[in-house]
Amino acid sequence: MNKIEIIPLGGIGEFGMNCMGIRYGDEMIIVDAGMGFPEETPYGVDISIPNFDFLEEYRDDLTAIILTHGHEDHIGALSYILRKFNLPVYSSRFTLALAEKRLREFDMLDDVLLHRVSAGESIEIGAFRIEFIHASHSLVECFSLAIHTPIGTLIHTGDYKIDDTPVIGKPYDLKMLSRIGDEGVLALLCDSTNATVPGRTPSEQAVIPAFEEIFEQTEGRLIVSTFSSSMHRLQIIFDIAYQFGRKVCVLGRSMQKNVEIAEEQGLLKITHGTMIDLAGSRALDDDEICYLVTGSQGEMRAALWNMATSTYKGIEVETGDTVILSARIIPGNEKNISRLIGHLYKRGANIIEEKRRLVRVSGHASQGDIQIMVETARPKFVVPIHGEYRMLFRQKEFIKNHVAGYGDDNIILIENGNILEIDEYAAKVVEKHDLHKTFIDEESMEEIEYDVVRERKKLAYGGAISLVVTIDKHKHSLAGDPQISFQGVAGLDPLNGFAANARDAVTLAINEMRPEQIADRNAFKENLRIHLKRYVQSELGTKPVIVTTIVEI
Ligand SMILES: [Zn+2]
Repeated sequence: MNKIEIIPLGGIGEFGMNCMGIRYGDEMIIVDAGMGFPEETPYGVDISIPNFDFLEEYRDDLTAIILTHGHEDHIGALSYILRKFNLPVYSSRFTLALAEKRLREFDMLDDVLLHRVSAGESIEIGAFRIEFIHASHSLVECFSLAIHTPIGTLIHTGDYKIDDTPVIGKPYDLKMLSRIGDEGVLALLCDSTNATVPGRTPSEQAVIPAFEEIFEQTEGRLIVSTFSSSMHRLQIIFDIAYQFGRKVCVLGRSMQKNVEIAEEQGLLKITHGTMIDLAGSRALDDDEICYLVTGSQGEMRAALWNMATSTYKGIEVETGDTVILSARIIPGNEKNISRLIGHLYKRGANIIEEKRRLVRVSGHASQGDIQIMVETARPKFVVPIHGEYRMLFRQKEFIKNHVAGYGDDNIILIENGNILEIDEYAAKVVEKHDLHKTFIDEESMEEIEYDVVRERKKLAYGGAISLVVTIDKHKHSLAGDPQISFQGVAGLDPLNGFAANARDAVTLAINEMRPEQIADRNAFKENLRIHLKRYVQSELGTKPVIVTTIVEI
């Protein structure tokens, strides 16, 4: 076969859960294995992962997993894919350290082969040769990938922006990208997260003036909440705190761990004596301390929420504190953040968020960055990835209108579960699969069956009716009145006679059945369910979950 197949399992048409299979001949690599944040949270699931069962038919082809960078929406599902397919994993030292932390929690670290690679390096995995291009993003040690195959090169951007002046590490390696562009690029798989935003994405350094001002003007305690993975931001806060004579106390497990890993690897540079523990922080004056905390998304288990609701041991938000929310609002978290801000205001805190000051910048490519990417890589085809469909679409429109030589034929929109075939001449979707997500229970961290969540949804919408029917096991006829009870069904109360009428309707239906229809208990049970369902629907216009039980005497 002289075609490349691109098979996205997640991250296309949605935010998060990034994962893509890339297949050539009978070999397939997986780029990223991220988690997502589903809308089904009211039904007891906070996390979703790609449907890795879909990869079963490619089991013998799978050769490796490549991680572009360490954000949860790129590595959060690693343990789940590795449980099903034990593949070697390739990524940067920092990304692997974050991945290791996860694998250790699942007690899987000893069973997995992790290969450390550096920017600029080139490795061979079967028919693929992969070059790792240094990418700038809100995190550090991120890669764009040049994936060379015998019929052409793909560039997978990962998450990126073209940052000329990052705080940690070097700018985006446009030189390497340009060299690969010179050699010829068949397709560019390009991050769309910020494709609706005009201009260039500001550098990570752009937040420094606002932070300096805030540190200079604030007399009370400062509490900064950001993502524990926003390394450039953390470096800026450590630097400015030092500059203005404040010590930094890091609170929240993921923040403490990430700071520890990044400092150990020499990525984060913290002046000796700047960091202080919680006990030490209490001895300081208000203008000598800055708390760096998790919880910018209003997560109820994180440090900031607990500090705002008096559930953090040893510290709470007080009148006169200034809280800086230095993070983007991840879609779906608006309500929780709004509640968090309410709690903070109740406690008398002053809140600074991005609407008021430039305290955060995006880590993703805006339109200007996308233009640089396309013009430098000069691919034959562009495939927008990472983002909701609206963003993929806008990336296509932008490139069509702003980069010469690109139109409907060579910018291809795909969806999760599509199989996109590419060769030197064409790129087209040849198969479409409906991939439902896999849900994870946040308490146990185990998979929940898709049907279970669907059932919970139905229960939440329509309530439940339970029907118990007693049957004479020899005569196959009704032995006593059917029992009906209901929970959470709208339009019902114990006195309005519905239960009695429904019971009569079920009795009538059973009496009309022949004994052989009742003898097959499974068919009988399903038959009863359908009868009652139709009756409820015609009487109440609702669709509760109906549970039927047959008792034999
Ligand atoms: Zn990212």
